[in-house]
Amino acid sequence: MSEISLDGRVAIVTGAGRGLGRAHALALASRGATVVVNDRGGALDGSSDEASPAEQVVAEIRAAGGTAVADTNDVSSLEGATSIVELATSMYGRLDILVNNAGILRDKSFAKLTEEEWNPVLAVHLGGTVWMSKAAWPAMVEQGYGRIVNTTSAAGIFGNFGQANYGAAKAAIWGVTKTLAIEGARHGIHVNAIEPGARTRMTENLLGEYADRLDPSLVSPVVAWLSAEACETTGEVYNVGGGRVARVVIAQTPGYFSAALTPEDVRENWATLNDPAGAQVMVSFQREFEVLVGMLSAEAAIDAGT
Ligand code: NAD
Repeated sequence: MSEISLDGRVAIVTGAGRGLGRAHALALASRGATVVVNDRGGALDGSSDEASPAEQVVAEIRAAGGTAVADTNDVSSLEGATSIVELATSMYGRLDILVNNAGILRDKSFAKLTEEEWNPVLAVHLGGTVWMSKAAWPAMVEQGYGRIVNTTSAAGIFGNFGQANYGAAKAAIWGVTKTLAIEGARHGIHVNAIEPGARTRMTENLLGEYADRLDPSLVSPVVAWLSAEACETTGEVYNVGGGRVARVVIAQTPGYFSAALTPEDVRENWATLNDPAGAQVMVSFQREFEVLVGMLSAEAAIDAGT
């Protein structure tokens, strides 16, 4: 089996001073990538009361024989994001891989949620992902090559109590991932996302008896593969944690169709249209439309008596 190599590639990993980002940075460096280790430091809620741990990760990478540089810019503005990208391109002449991982938490039940919990969480997760990608895009377009790996969450896909802010940001990252994959295709830029599960300071009280099995380093192999030139995949989301990897799909039930749909039709067929038996994976809105067109044309054929 040939080894996946990232030799000659230049990567940025945001929020790489600890937790999942640190594991991703170590993994990419161990496969030969030069890594910009970005982390502004700070507490879990994003308040800045602690020095950045980025230097420590850079020291680890260098001790293992790799190449890395630390960066402490804030990803949540285009200005900060541009500085991070300029560090990579001015020092190393290119940018091949962007791992958008930086994040904070400000959980509050929706009834108590204020702008103080909403704005910073959206700014770091969604803003950070968008501004970093925006800053990296021109270099990747010019090269005709790029790999972007975003970080979404179960909270964005399924919802979670007290996480309307975080869930909104993470669901939006899914949407951004899909659209950038479509826009990046013609430039050789592949954009995917992970939905991770790992023991970090973000989750340390949530994982129960299997916490020790959920080392962040068990998430990074997926990031390394999605960062590789040989990986053709784009626009997908992978659930990964504790050694398990699975593609997350959007599916639709076969549904119910009537060309003259009434509210009573909907009520009478509610169980049928909610039944997941026979559900199919929907990969694009074109595919969704094809399903409807198939039903409309079948109806037209019946009407015409053919
Ligand atoms: P973590 O708190 O250990 O790491 C996040 C890092 O991001 C921190 O080092 C922090 O200093 C940095 N950071 C925060 N704001 C920043 C900013 N504005 N600019 C630059 N750096 C900043 O948390 P983690 O669990 O490793 O989370 C990493 C990512 O994975 C986050 O996006 C998180 O939402 C996501 N995630 C984690 C889990 C999990 O199980 N741990 C599950 C789902 C999603």
